[in-house]
Amino acid sequence: MYESFGIDEKIISLVPRVDEEIKNELAKVDDICTFNSFKVLKAFQNHQVSDVHFNSTTGYGYNDIGRDTIEAIYADIFRAEDALVRSQFISGSHALTVALFAILRPGDTLLSITGKPYDTLEEVIGIKDNSSSLKSFGVNYEQIDLVNDDFDSEKICKRLEKSKIKLIEIQRSKGYSTRKSITIEKLEQVIKEIREVDKDVIIMIDNCYCEFVDKKEPVEVGADIVVGSLIKNLGGGIAPNGAYIVGRKDLVNLAAERLTVPGEGKEVGPSLGMNKSLLQGLFLAPSVVSSSLKTAIFTACLLEKLGYKVEPKYNDNRADIVQNIEFGNDQDLIKYCQGIQSGSPIDSFVVPLPWDMPGYTDKVIMAAGAFTQGSSIELSCDGPIRPPFIAYQQGSLTYEYGKLAIMKAASRLVK
Ligand SMILES: *Cc1c(COP(=O)(O)O)cnc(C)c1O
Repeated sequence: MYESFGIDEKIISLVPRVDEEIKNELAKVDDICTFNSFKVLKAFQNHQVSDVHFNSTTGYGYNDIGRDTIEAIYADIFRAEDALVRSQFISGSHALTVALFAILRPGDTLLSITGKPYDTLEEVIGIKDNSSSLKSFGVNYEQIDLVNDDFDSEKICKRLEKSKIKLIEIQRSKGYSTRKSITIEKLEQVIKEIREVDKDVIIMIDNCYCEFVDKKEPVEVGADIVVGSLIKNLGGGIAPNGAYIVGRKDLVNLAAERLTVPGEGKEVGPSLGMNKSLLQGLFLAPSVVSSSLKTAIFTACLLEKLGYKVEPKYNDNRADIVQNIEFGNDQDLIKYCQGIQSGSPIDSFVVPLPWDMPGYTDKVIMAAGAFTQGSSIELSCDGPIRPPFIAYQQGSLTYEYGKLAIMKAASRLVK
């Protein structure tokens, strides 16, 4: 079976050793999955989900009980006061943008304490010129870089004591960088330190790729507002688009009034037939996230055995579903991404090539054989063609499909 799928003998013989080595790590993932499944099931029952909630609304979307119940369930799962979960958010970046524009006012200062934020936010903030940026409205931006992958607590506290900061942004997942992602423990620690000097500063978390990777979510350790995408972890591979914002009621309300209309807020927004998909995706999310984590762990162990540097290592504590593989040369990076594409269910016959992309300085190669365009809870892998030639791999709807694709991609490296 493996041979007919183009998997090399060397990989076939390595896999049993990998399976044995990662056994304990997979068991830990199962434990987290059980915990989060309980959380989700309990929330569905607490809010008495019934097939009336699979309703659809059009036009203004008044009185959409399915939509309102989904938001109550999200708030419950995140232990938050309120939630906004909408397909009118076209991406995670859009939800982050809405949250920032909702809270910040001219003269306010936004402070990032995880260094430069995700690429798509550069024009939103005004780091890169854009006439619709926060900067163009007179919102100031400052950033404090991480030091050795940890928060620069001293600098952060000094800055907070100097003059008023309105909002602190913390991006947990690494994005296109080589730093480690931020675990919930690290987040808890830095929030404690921040609260000792400033009780009021609004702490906003970019939670993309981190949901259900651990047993706690950011609100439980003191975050005020948390944002993420539904074509990542919480959509469970079923949600066709959308994003969420959860947290303090007043802040979620501001975000709703920014997304829709001041005075209408959460009351409007048609669900257009998506309620059932959002519920079903959320229901599957703990298990799909666990499949992604297992695929990442398997990848880390196998690729390390083949001599490549990986981050995180197979037995490291994980904060998100992203796996970095450092190939050291462009050819291996390209071969691996092409291998992932050829192991996908959709467009397996397509060969991705490094290409110029808007917003990137280097050529980028992207493998994505996904049911939903751009979905990265489905197995996907991409990397800019520049030293040290790192692939960023994430997702897989099931561990079995993930494992097969990784074995196929790795075979191209040993041939
Ligand atoms: C994916 C991601 C986003 C949002 O990306 P979209 O493609 O706009 O949904 C933001 N921040 C981080 C860290 C991400 O990984």
